[in-house]
Amino acid sequence: MSVSGVRGIIGDSMTPTLAAELGMAFGAHLDSGTVVVGRDSRPSGPMVQSALVGGLLSAGCKVVELGIVSTPGTALMIGELSAAGGVVITASHNPVQWNGIKFLTAQGCAPSPEVAESIFAAYRQKNFPLADVDRIGTIERDHSTHDQHLARVSRVVNVEAIRRRQLKVVLDSINGAGGVGGKMLLEHLGCRVVHINAEPHGRFAHTPEPTAENLTSLCSAVLENGADLGFAQDPDADRLAVVDNKGRYIGEEYTLVLAAKQVLSQHPGPVAVNLSTSRMIDDLVAQVGQGASVIRTAVGEANVVHAMLEHNCVLGGEGNGGVIDPRVVFVRDSFVAMGLVLNLLAGDWRPLSNVVDDLPSYVMLKQKVDLDRGGMKSWMDRVRMSVQGQMNNADGLRIDWPEGWVHVRPSNTEPIARIISEAKDAETARALAKRVTELR
Ligand code: MG
Repeated sequence: MSVSGVRGIIGDSMTPTLAAELGMAFGAHLDSGTVVVGRDSRPSGPMVQSALVGGLLSAGCKVVELGIVSTPGTALMIGELSAAGGVVITASHNPVQWNGIKFLTAQGCAPSPEVAESIFAAYRQKNFPLADVDRIGTIERDHSTHDQHLARVSRVVNVEAIRRRQLKVVLDSINGAGGVGGKMLLEHLGCRVVHINAEPHGRFAHTPEPTAENLTSLCSAVLENGADLGFAQDPDADRLAVVDNKGRYIGEEYTLVLAAKQVLSQHPGPVAVNLSTSRMIDDLVAQVGQGASVIRTAVGEANVVHAMLEHNCVLGGEGNGGVIDPRVVFVRDSFVAMGLVLNLLAGDWRPLSNVVDDLPSYVMLKQKVDLDRGGMKSWMDRVRMSVQGQMNNADGLRIDWPEGWVHVRPSNTEPIARIISEAKDAETARALAKRVTELR
């Protein structure tokens, strides 16, 4: 259990009892309002959903089942149906033996840590209000999620301009929830689509996280088909990774930067990103100038969304391929990310590889170090005392220097700290990380 939801292993910790009781707790939290329920394509989805929906019905909720849909699709249906909240049954990029339950608020975004904690507290106390027979919940089904999503994305991109470019795209949907809607969107935008791992059966053709080592087949498919680019979704289709026309995995950090380049060219404004996100976004914003700015937040989707609302951001996201466009939905959305990347190419007739080569490039290194009890605080005190640099302590500590940055974050679950450093080259990134770790 964490602020971003509950995950467990099927046949072990993810039981129907857990799902039903979380349904009862969430139903009580929503005071028996309307709840939309979507799920990714995992074989365990029907089991988890049936139990969860039972819990919601017992609390008197009206449940609208959306079927196999993405996380952003579920989120936007909350608004479409004026629901009080939503639930997505997904374990995102985890392998097939996992499943999870993720709550969404009436605004269609991840709940704040306080709200998430109050739902879990109700679950732990097991003091569930049960509706009597006159107030027992009902189930409806709605199959319009993909159409609604396509319509929303179409409103924020130049459909005609993208169609004129007639791009050939390989889409890897990893047998997940994004395949059906993803193909619909790309075809609507006039793309010739080569769809791999399209069937939404949840028996993932490769390890589902859209990282370089898992996308070698997509990279080859782009080359073999002479495609203009490749897109990879994760199983619940909130994240997107991009492969360029040379079959090069360009990295999830670039997804947000390419999307931001498109949005800022038309709407220069603030962009919210977490503290672990690449400095490329700062360079881009500096280039745009007038009105554009970067707001850095604590790690976690809810924190980014909170900052977007507070600062009226034109875009938000994370360096893991998560792009949030407030005009579409307040969660990470691979569909709007695809639309924005294609829109960028439509306005810039060069191949994607040239567009990417023009962007600033950095090397980001990630490592973990063990921490003793209380070790983080005294370590960070020493860093503050002896290191010069611009510091941000919204989440762990991030130190920025002209040549790069380091972000140190203690784990919530293990006695370790994660250290991310970024600079123009690996040697500098390593040296910057060492400047901080040697004070431990
Ligand atoms: Mg995901």
